[in-house]
Amino acid sequence: MAGLNIQGVAKSFGSATALSDVTLDIQSGEFVCLLGESGCGKTTLLRQIAGLDTPDTGSILLDGNDLVAVPCHERNIGMVFQSLALFPHLNVLQNVAYALEIKGTDRASRTRRAEELLKTVGLADMGKRRVSQLSGGQRQRVAIARALAAEPALFLMDEPFSALDAGLREHLQIEVKKLQQSLGITTIFVTHDQREAMALADRIVVLNAGKIEQAGTPTEIYSKPATRFVADFIGDNNLLAVSARGGQVRLGQTDLGRADIPDGEHLIAVRPEHLRLLSADDEQPGLLAKVSLVRSLGAMLETEAQVDGLTLVQTAMTNSAGAATGAKVGDQIKVAFDLGQLWVIPK
Ligand code: ATP
Repeated sequence: MAGLNIQGVAKSFGSATALSDVTLDIQSGEFVCLLGESGCGKTTLLRQIAGLDTPDTGSILLDGNDLVAVPCHERNIGMVFQSLALFPHLNVLQNVAYALEIKGTDRASRTRRAEELLKTVGLADMGKRRVSQLSGGQRQRVAIARALAAEPALFLMDEPFSALDAGLREHLQIEVKKLQQSLGITTIFVTHDQREAMALADRIVVLNAGKIEQAGTPTEIYSKPATRFVADFIGDNNLLAVSARGGQVRLGQTDLGRADIPDGEHLIAVRPEHLRLLSADDEQPGLLAKVSLVRSLGAMLETEAQVDGLTLVQTAMTNSAGAATGAKVGDQIKVAFDLGQLWVIPK
């Protein structure tokens, strides 16, 4: 099983910096998602690891061995990219067995291995089909089986499900997660979709303009964003510029309640589930606001309210007391904050 150490990797294209000083250790068997906006350097980093490109500076070690001088096809890495590049002239089984053929594995062994993998990805009876006779989701599964056939030390996936509809995408996410867990294979998955990253990753690495903003578990990234960028990017967060004095927290002149934070000016994040909607004349501390949106998310009810150009987002379980306030668009309400749950964004 492989561990990956990326040390000080930088890559520029002409005057454009795609990666600067990226350092990251990935544990053996870990599932890491590289998450960030379009153009932040996710694919560039994956390409350096895969050997499809060479970093300007820095080292990439797999199990302690420097990869940078090793050609792509000798890196023992399985890859699934957005464009799958399955071989149209080969049937499904032959596609999966291809990497083993290249390695010189005998026909009986490679057929057995390819059949096992097709079974694992739920395509046991499709080995004889042409690639052109498969659906988009089935092709993705063939690509996954093909990438795993040679038992790679590292499995790289670049937005593999982005062209699929939401239902199929979720289904394949669950399958990939289960497969990765059962094989224990070190995996790096690129996505710009934070929900996908949250659902899949042991650890999420948030990239911004070629740099790592934060690397942490989905819970850390969600609850304790290390930077303003991460707090904004992960979204669904109420960011408030507050002042604190003697534990009393204020937004402008309005008292928000008490919290255990140092005196001074802070940018705080309060998650939507830590807001409560009260009637406008309630005496508890909070912000008077006007409801601008109420929408059902199935198990959750989401309410947005506006105050002085600030949009506050609150969520509550649909059947809970928090959701039962029956607030409607246009209502004046008071929004109270559970300040025991606030997070101060580091400066
Ligand atoms: P997306 O989600 O859109 O795929 P990304 O995060 O994967 O984006 P990269 O493809 O890694 O982003 O690109 C990072 C930056 O490097 C971008 O500004 C991109 O335009 C630039 N870039 C990438 N490859 C090349 C190249 N071969 N030549 C010139 N510029 C490039």
